[in-house]
Amino acid sequence: MTSDARSAELFERAQLVIPGGVNSPVRAFRAVGGTPRFIAAAKGAHLTDADGNDLVDLVCSWGPMILGHAHPEVIAAVTDAAARGTSYGAPTRAEVELAEAIVERTPVEQVRLVSSGTEATMTVLRLARAATGRDLVVKFAGCYHGHVDALLASAGSGVATLGDAEALASPSSPGVPATTTAQTIVLPYNDRTAVTAAFAEHGDQIACLVTEAAPGNMGVIVPGTEDGEHFNAFLARTCREHGALFVSDEVMTGFRVTRSGQHGLDGVVPDLVTFGKVMGGGFPAAAFGGRAELMQLLSPVGSVYQAGTLSGNPVASAAGSTTLRLLDDEVYRTLDASADVLRTAVAESFAAAGLPHVVQSAGSMFSVFFTPDDVTEVPDYATAQRQDTAAHAAFFHAMLDAGVYLPPSAYEAWFLSTAHDDEALSRIVETLPAAARAAA
Ligand code: PLP
Repeated sequence: MTSDARSAELFERAQLVIPGGVNSPVRAFRAVGGTPRFIAAAKGAHLTDADGNDLVDLVCSWGPMILGHAHPEVIAAVTDAAARGTSYGAPTRAEVELAEAIVERTPVEQVRLVSSGTEATMTVLRLARAATGRDLVVKFAGCYHGHVDALLASAGSGVATLGDAEALASPSSPGVPATTTAQTIVLPYNDRTAVTAAFAEHGDQIACLVTEAAPGNMGVIVPGTEDGEHFNAFLARTCREHGALFVSDEVMTGFRVTRSGQHGLDGVVPDLVTFGKVMGGGFPAAAFGGRAELMQLLSPVGSVYQAGTLSGNPVASAAGSTTLRLLDDEVYRTLDASADVLRTAVAESFAAAGLPHVVQSAGSMFSVFFTPDDVTEVPDYATAQRQDTAAHAAFFHAMLDAGVYLPPSAYEAWFLSTAHDDEALSRIVETLPAAARAAA
């Protein structure tokens, strides 16, 4: 059993000066209960919390830390960059190198660097609307694209009734104007009939469809293939047929599931792509990109305005470039093999405990759904919402008590890094059977 007295003390102080004690809501353990662990240090696959507990980390900062924490080459690059000044507000070689690394690996011709995934998706909507002269945006229920007003809308699975007001989303958060989300059509993921119907009804008003390249924010959902056509290829084709832009959000999958992200798995070339997480090497960096002709609409070439005081920050760019440089094919083989070990161990432990579940993967990114026993596949948000969140919470705490740090939510992917060596994997695998029994 790990102690959390110092984390509890910090959490009390934090709640006085920070809403809910956290700077991003899911960190607060609301879904699982208990005290969030305050982290004091991290190295490789391990976190050390404020009480000195050593935790094997399967959150990896929600994706970015693909090389593990404090990788020596990333730290050296960052230290070197910081010693030369931390921000200039003027162009640098570092940001050119990071932009070149992204363009070389992905189907985009040009990129602009920003500081968060939210900023990236916010700006691609503006760009898509400017390029098409249209206002409507299509997204999928359960897909998360940051806290952009227009995308903070998910009317859930019941929203598939198209052609009437119900098909349009209502805001997911107070403070988001209904008039903003009224421009957003929310559809069930993997549902081609709903997509076809929405475009038949509103096609000439749709600026873009935005999707997670492979959803990871309602748990990992696998984009389906029908008649040999990948879901993303179907979406790109449907957009093209209606003069709308296809936007692939690779903030989570980019440089994570393959060297070129989900594009490396499905080969689909989107009009616009958003990136984040891995490409920042643990620093606030993100990007969006696409065909040069679209990107040239941005200021200062064109008139679509976008800017940022810290955009292309030299320290973040050094961390990002170094991380991308170290991600060779061997890294992805290692991650795939580690993910296999864990998926197999989860399946065996949960089966032995009689705990119903479904494991789904996009490359090495995977999640465990605590589903009712009649569910064998989770294709969309509605099915993901049928999870037994109490069983998840019991499992989460049993793992944490035994020193394994999982996402504190049943709707999040588990992330591995190259630093998850045999020792780290064994610790997780040995912990699973008792945790599965505690949740059953
Ligand atoms: N898009 C996806 C797919 C994400 O997973 C996230 C964050 O988790 C975002 C966008 C938003 O990125 P950020 O948290 O950097 O604003």
